[in-house]
Amino acid sequence: MIDDFSKQFEKLIDIFVDYEHRSRENLIEVLFEMGKMFRLTKVESEFYKSATDQRDGVREYLCDYDIGPADKVVMSKCVIAKTGAIVKCTAYTSNDQPPYTEEELRQLDLSIRALQSFISRNRMQRAIETLGYHDEDGYPNFPYYFRHLERMNTTCGFRDQVALLYNLRQFSIINRDLGNSIGNVVMRGHYEAIKEIVGDKGVVCRVGGDNFAMIFTADKLKPILKAMEGIPIVYDKENDRRVMVSACAGVFIIPPDFVFERPGSIVELIFPACQKAKLEKNGIIEYVSKRSFEERENISRVRRNFDEGLAKGEFRAYYQPKVDVRTGKIIGAEALCRWIRDGRVVPPMEFIPILEQNTDICRLDFYMLEQVCKNIRKRISEGKRVVRVSVNFSRKHLLDPDLLENIVRIIEKNKVPYEYIEIELTETNTEVDFKKLQRLVNGLQEVGISTAVDDFGVGYSSLNLVRELPWNVLKIDRSLLPGMENERKKLSTIVFGHIVSLANAMGIECITEGVETAEQVELLKEYGCPYAQGFYYDKPLPYEEYEKKLDIGKY
Ligand code: C2E
Ligand code: MG
Ligand code: MG
Repeated sequence: MIDDFSKQFEKLIDIFVDYEHRSRENLIEVLFEMGKMFRLTKVESEFYKSATDQRDGVREYLCDYDIGPADKVVMSKCVIAKTGAIVKCTAYTSNDQPPYTEEELRQLDLSIRALQSFISRNRMQRAIETLGYHDEDGYPNFPYYFRHLERMNTTCGFRDQVALLYNLRQFSIINRDLGNSIGNVVMRGHYEAIKEIVGDKGVVCRVGGDNFAMIFTADKLKPILKAMEGIPIVYDKENDRRVMVSACAGVFIIPPDFVFERPGSIVELIFPACQKAKLEKNGIIEYVSKRSFEERENISRVRRNFDEGLAKGEFRAYYQPKVDVRTGKIIGAEALCRWIRDGRVVPPMEFIPILEQNTDICRLDFYMLEQVCKNIRKRISEGKRVVRVSVNFSRKHLLDPDLLENIVRIIEKNKVPYEYIEIELTETNTEVDFKKLQRLVNGLQEVGISTAVDDFGVGYSSLNLVRELPWNVLKIDRSLLPGMENERKKLSTIVFGHIVSLANAMGIECITEGVETAEQVELLKEYGCPYAQGFYYDKPLPYEEYEKKLDIGKY
């Protein structure tokens, strides 16, 4: 009997601990064995979420074991869990059973306690689940959808799956014409109909208002698309009143090479397609295009590989010389970032805009500054000629209150004289950013580090920016450089000439970017722009090649 009990008890505990992976049948089977072992006829339990619920008689009643007359109570125990939930378990037996021994009662006591602790955990979990993963109307919500995607990722994966976001069309009109409560009935009816089509391998969640998210196996796509065109929903059975409900949807047929990053990225990918579907007058289905998928993939690839790339030194500072147009002498350089990944030189436009979406760009810029400082330090130590190098700093840095200190710390650490470093910044478009930019430029100025306005002449450039801040250098964007012979050339030349004069008159060093031809060099000379940077002289060069050019010193 003792042995029987311990085996039985172990089985019970096993199930109680690992209940998520056991079926309800499993549990009932054990309950039956336990009941028989203790000669019970019935085991019942009551679950109250709180003392208030108990007072009001709001309970969940569970009775899976009931095999005979429940004549007398063998044991009745009530516990209050840490969460405040109350679990009461009662075991009954019939009149024809002999009295219980003390040992039997002790074992029964132990079993009932285990059962109680299980019930309280299991029920609370369900209560939490209902609260967290369902909305106020009882529909599974976004967290439910996300959790489902996470689970798929760790179990079956996304092969042959379709994710879809949809919005009920003109649902506000249904609400307006039939009233909100019928609107609710219609929505529920539609949800149930869609759920039926999706089957138990997929999920449908309401993700706010009349928006739904689903994921299902590809074989269901056709009937789902048909349902999007319209399903008649009966809202008044007696009078057979019905309304057609259609939807517009963004559809993502998940490709085999899809890499799951996080649940949000699937939604972000479909959302624009769904928005587009909403705007279309006739078409109601919009697929996630291969291009937007690839763009997304690139974004997640960059984000995924960035840390590793940085740690492995895959980011390199390339140098593009800056030249005095009158003498051909190299007077400085701009450090431009290149990502050497899998033997390919990745240009900044493929990763900088992505890194700029969060503050990763700041880590990269500091890394670049560090590389530049190291390169300069080395040349100084070798007694070679050193020129000023400019480093691009993203606008994202303006959020960093310690930016100035951080820049200074890196330069100091590498023992580089401030005069050899220049920080390139682009313009800002908000009042708040302007104030921050002003503080930074003034701060750098005080320390003795040069600042340059990059890309002057595109975007939000304003003369105010040049007037209000003490820049050292104005970098004229190549879009302002007069190009081919055409009727606009004359006007462009006038604008270009005036900007150069303005910089010169204000005592700001002036350099034109993107100089590609001898004719353009002549133009710079003619209008008095002393410095140029561009393919006419050199492309951004790997450090070793740049060093060779710098050793020669001129073009
Ligand atoms: P930017 O700072 O305006 O850099 C000048 C860009 O013009 C460089 O592009 C350069 O290769 C290109 N360029 C130079 N001469 C010519 C020319 O004669 N013709 C043409 N068509 N282009 C020329 P790149 O290296 O692709 O960099 C693009 C942009 O990426 C940079 O524009 C800068 O905004 C950003 N960037 C590059 N490296 C960094 C970095 O380390 N940090 C940050 N925050 N941004 C960076
Ligand atoms: Mg620049
Ligand atoms: Mg520029």
